Amino acid sequence: MGGNNQGSETAPPTRQTNAACRQPRRRSATNAIPATTITPTVRRPTEKPANAPALRGVAIDPGHGGQNVGALGLDGSKEKDVDLQVAKRLEKQLKMQLGIPVYLSRTGDYTVTLRQRLATADHPDVDAFLILHAQAAFTPAAHGVTLFIRPKEESAAGTPTEVGGGESMRLAQSLAASLRAAGFTVDGIWPAPLLPLGRGDLPTVLVEMGYLTNPADQSLLTDPAGDERMAEALFNGLKSFADHAKPQS
Ligand SMILES: [Zn+2]
Repeated sequence: MGGNNQGSETAPPTRQTNAACRQPRRRSATNAIPATTITPTVRRPTEKPANAPALRGVAIDPGHGGQNVGALGLDGSKEKDVDLQVAKRLEKQLKMQLGIPVYLSRTGDYTVTLRQRLATADHPDVDAFLILHAQAAFTPAAHGVTLFIRPKEESAAGTPTEVGGGESMRLAQSLAASLRAAGFTVDGIWPAPLLPLGRGDLPTVLVEMGYLTNPADQSLLTDPAGDERMAEALFNGLKSFADHAKPQS
């Protein structure tokens, strides 16, 4: 997890990278960038027209890139490559099957600032934002997909809403269902107060797609067919999220 934070003037250089995906960890966000250092805001700039499709566009942030390699696998595989491969496959599915615009924070192996990552979602037609990562753990037994959302959702009126009622939670639940249907182990949906998930009310889910320190997860995520399976499950989750969206009034 995490990203290069050098674009944020409020963050000291020592916090440019988030160590969460670079080092083994037990759970969630204890090594992540404190939320107070994150200034960019991701929000839905406009209301949808009444006849707009349920999912007008999607933003995807493949983690890491360039010198920021992310987690390392047992065989030396790099998380940055896994994140990008799944992102590109998901982009292709969304464009080909739904014909909607997809915005990627990076399309190759280069450094992206946190500000640039969050700006990826700052398009008026973006209705969902997925942040893709993979993990490392101290034990090879740790495996499976973990989903993170912001701890609180802000409603359109600016009123904080607890986890459970938010659209990010609904998106995460939809992703969890489609991942499980595709045979993936889903570890759960966790609030991530310290992860840079942006703010506002854009449905946003950070997907830790598996553990590169687990032999089965690693072989799946470093295999093109496995990446395609992961991308397809994420696509189905996004589509299901959109299909069950409340009618716009
Ligand atoms: Zn990562």
